[in-house]
Amino acid sequence: MKRQQLIAQLARPVTYDVAIVGGGATGLGVALDAAARGFSVVLVESHDFAKGTSSRATKLVHGGVRYLAQGNIGLVREALRERTTLLRNAPHLAGPLPFVMPSYRLWETPFYGAGLKMYDALAGKAGLGATEFLSREQTLACLPTARPDGLKGGVKYWDGQFDDARLALALARTAASRGALLVNYCAATGLRHENGKVAGLTCEDLETGKLHDIKAGCVINATGVWVDELRQKDGAAIGRQVKPMVAPSQGVHVVVDQKFLPGGHALMVPKTADGRVLFGVPWLGKLILGTTDTPRHDLPAEPRPFKEELEFILGESARYLAKAPRRSDIRSMWVGLRPLVKPQGDDGDDTKGLSREHTVLVSRSGLVTVTGGKWTTYRAMAEDVLDKCADKRLLKRTRGGVTANLMLVGSDPVPAGRPPLSEPQGLHSYGSEGAAVTALRGARRELGAGLTEAMVRFAARSEYARTVEDVLARRWRLLFLDAHLAGSLAGEVGAILQQENGTDPQVSAFEELARLYLALPG
Ligand SMILES: Cc1cc2nc3c(=O)[nH]c(=O)nc-3n(C[C@H](O)[C@H](O)[C@H](O)COP(=O)(O)OP(=O)(O)OC[C@H]3O[C@@H](n4cnc5c(N)ncnc54)[C@H](O)[C@@H]3O)c2cc1C
Repeated sequence: MKRQQLIAQLARPVTYDVAIVGGGATGLGVALDAAARGFSVVLVESHDFAKGTSSRATKLVHGGVRYLAQGNIGLVREALRERTTLLRNAPHLAGPLPFVMPSYRLWETPFYGAGLKMYDALAGKAGLGATEFLSREQTLACLPTARPDGLKGGVKYWDGQFDDARLALALARTAASRGALLVNYCAATGLRHENGKVAGLTCEDLETGKLHDIKAGCVINATGVWVDELRQKDGAAIGRQVKPMVAPSQGVHVVVDQKFLPGGHALMVPKTADGRVLFGVPWLGKLILGTTDTPRHDLPAEPRPFKEELEFILGESARYLAKAPRRSDIRSMWVGLRPLVKPQGDDGDDTKGLSREHTVLVSRSGLVTVTGGKWTTYRAMAEDVLDKCADKRLLKRTRGGVTANLMLVGSDPVPAGRPPLSEPQGLHSYGSEGAAVTALRGARRELGAGLTEAMVRFAARSEYARTVEDVLARRWRLLFLDAHLAGSLAGEVGAILQQENGTDPQVSAFEELARLYLALPG
């Protein structure tokens, strides 16, 4: 997978069936589905795959207990079905996780328990385990550090968790194995129109500055919160005014050591002071606390938390944990932007009330825009997009469901004793590719936190990694888990990448980024 070869392919004068802009969950899901149906596919991503929202999730593969409370049964049922599909097709990257809702008021256990029994019923055969009512002692056995005073009991239920960025890479690599061409660090700079219809796009290889022209029968705009940029360009080309469709809302996650919540169960608080859900999720050896829902009007690639958001997460955690994490306990902090779709005429300032479902829009010129939704349902979204493309005669109609049983690269039958996703990353995270990793030079040379020289070489050769950030943020999740430690490994990782790729691995930019992930507001 040499970059020069990918770029040489990009320069070929072919007309693709589908060109996709954006290499997050949405774009990669469409690329895989289209390639698996036999279409010729190209996808360009302006940064790294999953650099946007798709590496910044709460890491839950879930039906959405919250949407159940809102009465959105259809959304929950679809997500529960997709939860099972995802866990089956990528067992090395996704697995079941028990959650506990502690109750401090007598009515909470029966009230939330009844709702969760309905969640079980909706899941049917796709259920991961039965909801249980817990006594006070049982709750403390699951959540040993839950605040004990006033604790009445709890409810335990099951959902899934995953490694979002590695799943994105698995989607990219599986799509490539089906013939799709995917290029990161290649930004779509404009659209090509012929007779008022979109007929392709122009893109720039950001490593060389070279421009490329791509011809395609169907162009899909899957750029997450950034979809309006391409929509505006499309509108300008055909002389139509385009109203923005996305109301971005940011969600902050704070990462601390697992000692604040040992025991392998996630904490779920159904109603915080601002009416949101708060999670404490054990993930890759650390504890993720979050998240928030704050409207934002700019769209930075690296959004940072507001002071109130940090205070909110620490304050709410202190209400439920016997020993509350303080600012000095924070190992990393990351922020993701939700691409919420606003109804026409809405200013989008109350993002909590906006739909969490995805939207597919086809413009007059035939530009297909898809945004919203969630990671869990990426596969169903991809099917919906391809159906809409067929409705509009942009693509031939083909049978759906081709990815329902398609195992992703690296998937294998889960061996007994494989650590769950709540345990630190390791060779097991590579699934069936573990032997391919250890066959590379430096398999026994650990750089730190379990990362070996061979894993960095594998990232460069087989996982599209170009920079230190690609390795330490998304192939190995250290930036998200322990930003200080990640920063300290930048030099060594950079030296290996330089040998592999022969390009600038951007060491100092990553060191700066690692400092940013530790910079607390206020
Ligand atoms: C805080 C938070 C927590 C969440 N937690 C969960 C969860 O636990 N479970 C769940 O199921 N879902 C969760 N979600 C939702 C889920 O993460 C998103 O729905 C999903 O990641 C969106 O993916 P996307 O591909 O649409 O967007 P993105 O991942 O943002 O991808 C868009 C891509 O387009 C690229 N791009 C932009 N412009 C261009 C251009 N001109 N040329 C080329 N590329 C371009 C960007 O670089 C980016 O990589 C969460 C979301 C947030 C914000």
